[in-house]
Formats: sequence, C-alpha cells, structure tokens
Amino acid sequence: MADTYDVVIIGGGPGGYNCAIRAGQLGLKTAIIEKRGKLGGTCLNVGCIPSKALLHASELFAAAKNDFAGLGIKTGKVELDLKAMMGQKNEAVDGLTQGVEFLMKKNKVDYIKGFGKITGPGKVDVDGKTLNTKNIVIATGSEPSTLPNIEIDEERVVTNTGAIALKEVPKKLILIGAGVIGLELGSVWSRLGSEVTVVEYLDRIMPGADNEVAKEAQRVFKKQGLDFRLGMRVTGVEKMKTKLKLFMEPAKGGDEEVLEADAVIVAVGRRPYTEGLGLEKVGGKTDKRGVIEVTDHFKVADGVWAVGDCIPGPMLAHQAEDDGAAVAELIAGKAGHVDYNLVPSVVYTNPEIAWVGKTEEQLKEEGVEYKKGKFPFQANSRARTNHETTGFVKVLADAKTDRILGAHMMGVGVGEMIHEICVAMEFGAASEDVARTCHAHPTMSEAVRQAAMGVEGWTMQM
Ligand code: FAD
Ligand code: NAD
Repeated sequence: MADTYDVVIIGGGPGGYNCAIRAGQLGLKTAIIEKRGKLGGTCLNVGCIPSKALLHASELFAAAKNDFAGLGIKTGKVELDLKAMMGQKNEAVDGLTQGVEFLMKKNKVDYIKGFGKITGPGKVDVDGKTLNTKNIVIATGSEPSTLPNIEIDEERVVTNTGAIALKEVPKKLILIGAGVIGLELGSVWSRLGSEVTVVEYLDRIMPGADNEVAKEAQRVFKKQGLDFRLGMRVTGVEKMKTKLKLFMEPAKGGDEEVLEADAVIVAVGRRPYTEGLGLEKVGGKTDKRGVIEVTDHFKVADGVWAVGDCIPGPMLAHQAEDDGAAVAELIAGKAGHVDYNLVPSVVYTNPEIAWVGKTEEQLKEEGVEYKKGKFPFQANSRARTNHETTGFVKVLADAKTDRILGAHMMGVGVGEMIHEICVAMEFGAASEDVARTCHAHPTMSEAVRQAAMGVEGWTMQM
C-alpha cells in the first residue's frame, strides 16, 4: 500500500466515506482511516440504520396488535420475539457496512483500520505508521453528551448504543431528552411494551422543530402512551440491585422528585469527537462545545478540511454526506457547496415529522413577512381511506415574492413527501409553482399541493 496520498480521511462515517467515494471518482489518490473496525460510523453502526430497523419492526408489531383487526385481518395472537427482531436489525447493519467497504474497493480507496492522529501538516499517523498526504479531511463525527451524576453502563443506563441492543423490554423506561432520539427510541420501546416517561429540561419537545408541529406531536405521542415531564432537570440516577432511581427537579426551581425505572436512556444531544486527533498540530481550533471551526467551505487550515457532525450545523447523516462530497470536489479544484437551509429533518416516528427551511418562529424573529398554507390529512382522501388522518402539511412562503421559505409536516410518509419541497426550494420555486403542479390522486402528497394552494388562497378543503 502506497503511503503518499492526495487525500487522507480520518473517520469512516457518512461524512468520511462519501468524501472517499467522490475523491476516488475524481481520480484522487485516497485513504480512509477508521478505528471502530467497521465502516459506516455512528449512522450505520449505532444510529440511523439500527434505530430505523427497530422503528420499522416495532411499528409493524404495533399495527399487527392494534390495527390489523380493524382492517379485517385476523392474525391470531401477536407475540414479540425480541432476539429475532434484534437479529434482523444486525443483519441490516452488517449488510450496509460491508456494502460501504465494497464501495471503497470499487472506487480505489485504501481502507486502513486504526486510530488516525494528525502529527503535522500533511502527516497522519495510524498506529505507528505515517501517511503523507496533500490533504487531510477530518470526519471524526460525534459521541453522546452525558450528564453529571449519571454513570453509563450501556446495560441499564444507556446511550443510543445500548438503547438499540437492550436484551429485554424494560417494564419502566425513562428517556432523558425529548429530542429526536428520545422520541424515536421512546416510540420503539413503548410499542414493544415499555411504560415510557420522557423527561425534558425545556418546556417543549423537539427544540428546532416548528412550534405548531411540536405541540401537535406531543399531543399525538401522549395518546400513544408516552408520558412527558417537561421543564424538569435530571440531577442523577442511582443504581439499585434491580431497579434504578432517577432524581429530578423543576428547571425553574422547586422540590425534588424521584422516578423508578428498569432502564434509563440518556439522549441529551451529541458532541463532536476530536479526542487524541492532534488538531492543534495544524493550527485547528474548536469552540467551547468542541465544534471544529471551519470556513464556509469546510477549511480548517491550508490542506486541512473538516465535515459532518464535528463542524457547525445540523448533526445529520445526509448533511455529513453532502459535506464530504463537497470537500472532495473542492480538493479536486471544482465548486463544492452545501446550503444548510435546504437540509431536511425527518423524525421517523408514527406519524413521521419532517421539515425543511425556516420555522414560523424563525421568520417572525427575522422580521420576514410570510404567507401560510396549512392542510390537514383529515381532509385528504388517501389518508382517510387508509385510516391515517393524523397530522398536517404547512407551507410558508414570502409574502411579496411567493418564494417558498419552509415546510413543516406531520403524517404517515411525510419523510418522503418533504423532498418535493426540497427540490422546489433548491430551484427557487414559488408556492404557486407547487400549487399548479399536477399530483396523482389519491395520494398523501396531494396534501402538499393543497397546503401550497392554501398559501395562494385556493385550498379545496372539505
Ligand atoms: P460519524 O458517523 O460519527 O462517523 C465518524 C467515524 O469516525 C466513527 O466511526 C469513529 O469511530 C471514527 N473516528 C473518530 N475519530 C477517529 C480517529 N481519530 N481515527 C479513526 N477513526 C476515527 N441522522 C440522520 O440523518 N438520520 C437519522 O435517521 C439519524 N438517526 C440517528 C439515530 C441515532 C440513535 C443517532 C445516535 C444518530 C442518528 N443520526 C441520524 C445522526 C447521524 O448518525 C450522524 O449525523 C452521522 O453519523 C454523522 O456522520 P459523520 O461522518 O460526521 O460522523
Ligand atoms: P437532540 O438535540 O435532538 O435532543 C436533546 C434533548 O435533550 C433536547 O430536547 C434538550 O433540551 C434535552 N436536554 C438536554 N439536556 C437535558 C437535561 N439535562 N435534562 C433533560 N433534557 C435535556 O439530541 P438527541 O435526541 O440526543 O440526538 C442527537 C443528534 O442525533 C441530534 O443532533 C439529531 O439530529 C441526531 N439524530 C437524528 C435523527 C434523525 O434524523 N431522525 C435521529 C436520531 C438522532
């Protein structure tokens, strides 16, 4: 294996492996270093993929138990085989991580297993061996944030890593944090039979999501059995022989409360991972939260770039992927840019939640005059036929130009539907463009068109 490269990438997650693939395609001599023994990073190994495998299986389990009879389907007794459910999840993970390894070979990228450490400009050490390179790309990702007085053991007190591999369904489960992980993994274990309490520091769920969506989502998830304790600060978890005690107090001050649980999932956000990286050897800097400072074109210093969860911006796999590809193009002397305002967010609960662009709160804060169109799935014929009427689509457009500024959705399948708006926004479309686009009938997507028609004042709501 040659040891002089055009690009050496540290970290084999979505940011790193997409950078590697694009660099390989552009004819750059490329190596990727990964320490966990498998490519795919957080996303494929302990994040997006295993959580979606469990969300899908648990959703079918809940449907078979609760909904099939109403559709005239007799299934007999529906039982959970947790070991098999975990097995199919592991199969999905293994298949995809091996697929990424194959893509490295296909694109002539050297995959080096080990810990990457920057020792100076153009030099990366992997377990004692030095690689010389014209460009270093840092794609080291993130790790779960922790809280004081809570000792993670990944058995009973877990982060996302332990939460996707619990050996039995906890009778009582507490999630700390009502963010994306809290809602997704809370839904999984609630469907499988846990009594779930979600404890959140703020007085709302899903910070970052549009307020109207967050409020409706909280109402829907409460109906599904999630108990929310908002405005509460967790002060510690004590491990008893079989049970756990969680201590919390009102964030605004007040009396301590104690909750009992069989398992606790800590999901209070993630922080960039740069331990032992040697960032200082190339003059790289981090902010107070450990986020690597970059220019708006991913540059840390001459010949040093960073992408994905370890730099400012949303912590999402598709954004890391786009960052990675853009950096490969910049290194190859092409134009590479990612518009973070057009990065969609999807929460894979049932119903799903999806959004892109600005929230109403952001537009108000920025003093932007906007028009709003909202359409409930209750009035969509496909949703009514499928008995999936929860939620709505909201489109926000500039009051003067009619250009779409954001969209916020909750409903079955909105994680797919949001991309219609992403494409429209990418091409600078007006709301009227979407309103005049023919949509097949009967589809859930007609709700997107109807919301855009709402912006124009022509909704055909029943
Ligand atoms: P990572 O995926 O974290 O990869 C970084 C890699 O670098 C790791 O494999 C690490 O081992 C390696 N590494 C670090 N330092 C070194 C070193 N010095 N030497 C060698 N290797 C090193 N995002 C979505 O878009 N959709 C989802 O549905 C979604 N679901 C998620 C569910 C969960 C439970 C979690 C935790 C996250 C989820 N995310 C999701 C977020 C997504 O996983 C991350 O945004 C994404 O993985 C970031 O990619 P990355 O390449 O920047 O970093
Ligand atoms: P998050 O930032 O979405 O939510 C964390 C929540 O914890 C927030 O609501 C926050 O107010 C709360 N919190 C913080 N400190 C607390 C405390 N001491 N007590 C109680 N609550 C507290 O983070 P997450 O859910 O841990 O997810 C981490 C990252 O992974 C996110 O950036 C997310 O984008 C990504 N992720 C994405 C998906 C997806 O795209 N579907 C799924 C899972 C995770």
